[in-house]
Parts: sequence; C-alpha cells; structure tokens
Amino acid sequence: MAIVYLSLGSNLGDRLGYLQQATSLLNAVPEINVVSTSSFYETEPWQMESENWVVNAVIQAVTSLSPEKLLDECQRIETLLGRKREPQTKYSDRTIDIDIIFYDNMVLNTERLTIPHKLFHKRAFMMVPMLEIAQDFVHPLFKKTIMELYEELDNPEMVLLYGTRV
Ligand code: ATP
Ligand code: CA
Ligand code: CA
Repeated sequence: MAIVYLSLGSNLGDRLGYLQQATSLLNAVPEINVVSTSSFYETEPWQMESENWVVNAVIQAVTSLSPEKLLDECQRIETLLGRKREPQTKYSDRTIDIDIIFYDNMVLNTERLTIPHKLFHKRAFMMVPMLEIAQDFVHPLFKKTIMELYEELDNPEMVLLYGTRV
C-alpha cells in the first residue's frame, strides 16, 4: 500500500461539484481509499490564459495501484467528468484536473509521469491545501517539509480559503 497525495482542480462549471464527484469516484475504485481531504481553495488562474478562477483541493489516499495505474484511474475519471483535452493548448479551462503530487517517497521520471509533481514547490494552490493535511510530509527530492517549502514560496497569498472540506 502506498500513501499518495493528489491535487484536484476545476475552473469550469460546477467547480465544487466536480471536486466532490472526483473524490467520490476515486474512492469508489476498489484499490483506492481516500483517507483525508483538504478544504477547498480558490486561486486566480496561474500561467493560464483563462479568466476563470480555479477551485483546488488536495486529497490523501492509500492505494495498491502502481503510479501508472493510478494515473490511468485519474485520467479515466477526468474523462468521465467531461474533461476535454486539446492537444495544442496547454492549461485550457477544465472541469477537472487530477494530478499525482506524491506517491510515498518515490521519485519517478518517465515520459508519462513525473513524481513528485514537477511544479509542486512553486504552486501555492497545491501547497496550501497540502499544508492542511500533511505539513510534516518530507518532499523526497528537496528533503524539506511542506511547511518549510511553504515558507519559501513567492506568492503564498494568492490562495484564498473558499469552502469547507470536500
Ligand atoms: P501541469 O502538469 O503543469 O499541472 P496539466 O495538469 O494541465 O499541467 P495535463 O494536460 O492534465 O497537464 O497533463 C499532461 C500530462 O502530464 C499527462 O498526460 C500525464 O502523462 C503527464 N504527467 C506527468 N506527471 C504527472 C503527474 N505527476 N500527475 C499527473 N499527470 C502527470
Ligand atoms: Ca495540473
Ligand atoms: Ca493534469
């Protein structure tokens, strides 16, 4: 069993509803059990063209799936919730985005998967929710806790508390 942290984000339609549905659908996978969830946070689109603010959360889960199979499930659920992928455009509006932030202490770099998530340490919208549920988790590459990384963030204020727990 691996302990994993997943980032959820939505900036299209019923954003809270998509985060809740994604959490339930992840938990409905027999090999995935959601253990805890952060509150919802709202963030101005970051390096996106869009005007639509994003609602984000982080969930902690345990899984017997490999990282690749876990990504398969995340992408299956994204598709189920209406995520459209346009190959040309990076960072387009999305009903749901599910990223793997951490998979135990694994460090992985394949064509399909980079773990830890390559931009976690720069993204307040991933780190602030993660702080709420795992501030003492040690980043396997930087060897710093989430709290220590948070203190080094340039823009911690860009994330606003938006709602109660998923
Ligand atoms: P970003 O990765 O900057 O958050 P994004 O989430 O908008 O961007 P997507 O279009 O959702 O990008 O995903 C592009 C590809 O990223 C996926 O097809 C997947 O193979 C790859 N990928 C690499 N590492 C990860 C990871 N840790 N979690 C999810 N997808 C990943
Ligand atoms: Ca993402
Ligand atoms: Ca993604």
